Amino acid sequence: MRTDLFINNEWRNASDGGTFPVTNPATEEVLCEVAKATDTDVDAAVQAARACFDSKEWKRLSARRRGAMLLKAGDLLEARMKEFAKLESQHNGKTFFEAKIEISMTVSSLRYYGGLADKIEGKTVPVEGPFLVYTRREPLGVVGAIVPWNFPLNLASWKFAPALAAGCTIVLKPATETPLTALLFGEVIQEAGFPPGAFNVISGGGSTAGMSLVKHPGVDKIAFTGSTEVGRVIMKEAAKSNKRISLELGGKSPNVIFADADIESAIRGAQTGIFYGKGEVCAAGSRLLVEKSVHDQVVEQLAARAAKLTPGDPLAKETRMGAVVSQSQQESVMSYVARGVEEGAKLVAGGKRAQVDGKGYFVEATVFDNVTSDMTIAREEIFGPVLSVLAFDDFDHAAQIANETVYGLAAGIWTRDIGKAHRLAQEIQAGTVWINAYNYYDTAAPFGGFKASGFGRELGSEAMDAYLETKTVWVNLV
Ligand code: NAP
Ligand code: MG
Repeated sequence: MRTDLFINNEWRNASDGGTFPVTNPATEEVLCEVAKATDTDVDAAVQAARACFDSKEWKRLSARRRGAMLLKAGDLLEARMKEFAKLESQHNGKTFFEAKIEISMTVSSLRYYGGLADKIEGKTVPVEGPFLVYTRREPLGVVGAIVPWNFPLNLASWKFAPALAAGCTIVLKPATETPLTALLFGEVIQEAGFPPGAFNVISGGGSTAGMSLVKHPGVDKIAFTGSTEVGRVIMKEAAKSNKRISLELGGKSPNVIFADADIESAIRGAQTGIFYGKGEVCAAGSRLLVEKSVHDQVVEQLAARAAKLTPGDPLAKETRMGAVVSQSQQESVMSYVARGVEEGAKLVAGGKRAQVDGKGYFVEATVFDNVTSDMTIAREEIFGPVLSVLAFDDFDHAAQIANETVYGLAAGIWTRDIGKAHRLAQEIQAGTVWINAYNYYDTAAPFGGFKASGFGRELGSEAMDAYLETKTVWVNLV
């Protein structure tokens, strides 16, 4: 385990010696004390990233060589899969089963962007007059990356892998609840051969270390994943210095089941859509829209499945429902459950706290029926294992409810009518639409939000745009 800040390829204590505890939410035990970055430490990390970015060594490093380092990092991480997955499970509460998937997705990010590093091309541009005009795609500088606790290392890699591939350097601030895998990843960075300052990790608070990074004049860009609320705060602050930003924010994604769907698969998709990762998934299918004629059947079967999804020891092989990330998250989820009941939704499964061996912050897989778009549980992101079921009459009604949200991150559509599926895919305002599937991700497939779910795209070759500037060069040929 690493518990110190990773700055300039070294592990350091916080400048004032400060630390904060990291807890295992499944056992309530304190795992360790981790260094809490001060403004001085954030400044040291940014200076290290800046010095690396401006160094001749980094500038002369070919894109292919940078790519090779990322590929090597992918191999090193893959070889340590179980160690990283266990740690991810311990600080986040997710099952070991899910943590392994997460770490293998991180390996994919490293490989995909490692392969892309030497394929960043400009173009020649036909213009009027005797000129040769060409563009260069240049790294935009020092990137500050701020990430949440739900997929700690993977969401960080969605930023640091393309950023390093582009030739940027990076300062990463992991979430307070889950700093351990990002810090340990420093070992991988060192061994992969990255020079000091290319990749730095400052564990610490959001409004302190995070905000200090956002305000720092040495940072050229902030890449943020987290809540819509904090995204707005960052946007406002970044505007003061024209910092570039990209934001991956919250969601309240509709998962739409038509009567002509393969109902069995649709129910399975609805289940994983909301309960995978304990519902702490930005793209969770947290609003299930069901056509009236199949509504009772779908709700009944889903409630039965939810009842069987009992929370267990996250490290046990067979467990499919882990602990929510913290006690305060458990309280927040439970307050939404209470609100659902108060506002007249019908609780058909779960709805209670749970413990495993008398410990831990678990929440039962919960399903609310008879939900309407005006209810709090249909409007606000709960970020827990709580599903809201809304019934619809026909296609237009489904499209209307689907878009009755400020968010636009993802959506699911279940039907055997292929034309209807594509028509609805066009109408739903969301960055990702799954047809007869839910919660699939691939490093090659762009991901990001419409509306209040943010802007900019991660994953795929699109992600590179967030870390590159285009320079146009005019050459007078006469
Ligand atoms: P959050 O409170 O917004 O925190 C996200 C990160 O921002 C954390 O590292 C946090 O640090 C930091 N932070 C908090 N306040 C800050 C400030 N004033 N200045 C700078 N940084 C600050 O989000 P969360 O509650 O941890 O995570 C859940 C949210 O993330 C959900 O809304 C979810 O939808 C969203 N999310 C989106 C995606 C996506 O791809 N669109 C993916 C995953 C999650 P601390 O941990 O120290 O507070
Ligand atoms: Mg937070």
